[in-house]
Order: sequence, then structure tokens, then C-alpha cells
Amino acid sequence: MRILIVEDEARIRAFLARAFEAEGFGVDVVGDGDQGLARALTGRYDLVILDLLLPGLSGLEALRELNRERSDLPVLILSARSDLPIKLRSFELGAVDYVAKPFSLDELLARARVQLRRARVTEDNTEIRVGHLVLDLARRQARVGDSVADLSDREFRLLHFLMQHVGEVISRERLLSEVWGYDFDPRSNVVDVCVRRLRRRLGPDAPIETVRNAGYRAAA
Ligand code: CA
Repeated sequence: MRILIVEDEARIRAFLARAFEAEGFGVDVVGDGDQGLARALTGRYDLVILDLLLPGLSGLEALRELNRERSDLPVLILSARSDLPIKLRSFELGAVDYVAKPFSLDELLARARVQLRRARVTEDNTEIRVGHLVLDLARRQARVGDSVADLSDREFRLLHFLMQHVGEVISRERLLSEVWGYDFDPRSNVVDVCVRRLRRRLGPDAPIETVRNAGYRAAA
């Protein structure tokens, strides 16, 4: 998952970049509206976080242009302006969400995750992609490059759950209760066994990371 941050205030820009990188996202940052629009149109991004008061092209102008050229790319506005008319105007021009400064980082991250979750599911709703990994929901198959694996019910549900929560570390306990669905002994190693099997079948490029003492994460 890749995010473009368009923000002219260097301090906020650096702060946001660090925060999103810590969450496992790829981050590019630019400091003005013209560069922002150019990068958003040419790069491959899953979300743009766009300031409104920018040097050069304003955030609203960039938003209008983006909506015309790349209406599939979600744009979240992060602005010091918090009045209703500017919010409504932003939504009219295609923004998917609006966060006013000063902002809570946790709230911004949560809202960004919602958009990224939506962005991951392709239009026909039959596939989810995380990096090179494609999960075919109808066939219950996973693909990484040329490797295709038919999945057991548990493998499918485990992979599906991790991919729906891309970037988040999911604990073994949570996976146990979500995928095995009943009160499994928390010391059981069925989760680890299942992940090992998936990795063996999908190869070393499958973007499923082990986070030591915490759980697993699907990372793009
Ligand atoms: Ca600004």
C-alpha cells in the first residue's frame, strides 16, 4: 500500500511520513499542489492525503483535477479549515474523507485505513490484492506470480482476514478466534502451522510477515 502526502508544512509532513511508515505503508511526500497533482497522476498510490492551503495549485484545484483524471484514487483532505462550506465543497469535488487540523493521529490513521481497505478490493469484488499476493474470492485460490494454490477453508479464511487488515499486526489469539471460530487453546500452534503451510505453497514472495511476539501481518 502506497500513500502520497501533499503538505507544505515540513514539520507535519515529516510527522505524517514517520507515522504511516511505522504502520507499514510506503510513503511519498511533496510540499506543493502542482507537484502533488503531478505525482498523484503518474505514481501508483492507494490513497492521497491532501492539504488545502498549499503554495502553487490549491488543494481544491488539485482535487478537482484528480477527480476528473483519476476518480478511482481516494483523496482524504487534511486541512486547517474546518468550516462546513469548505468540507462540502471538498466532498463535491470527490474527497472521500475530511480531517481538520489540529488532528488526532490515531483518528487520521483509522480513517486512512478505512479507505485503504476499500481500495484494496477490486471493482468486481472477486479479488483482493496485497502487493504481489492475489486472493481469488470465488475460486478460493491464492496467487503469487506463477504460484497458484488452492486453499483449504482455514487457509482461505486466515489469508482473507490478514489481507482485509493489511498493514495491521494481528495476534495469534485474534486469528484463532476469527478463523477457527471457537475457544481454541491459546497455546495451540495451529495458526503458525497454517501460516507455514501457506508460505511453503505461495513461496518466499508472499507478503505475510511474522512480527515477533505479536503475530502476523500482511504487508504490501
Ligand atoms: Ca498548508
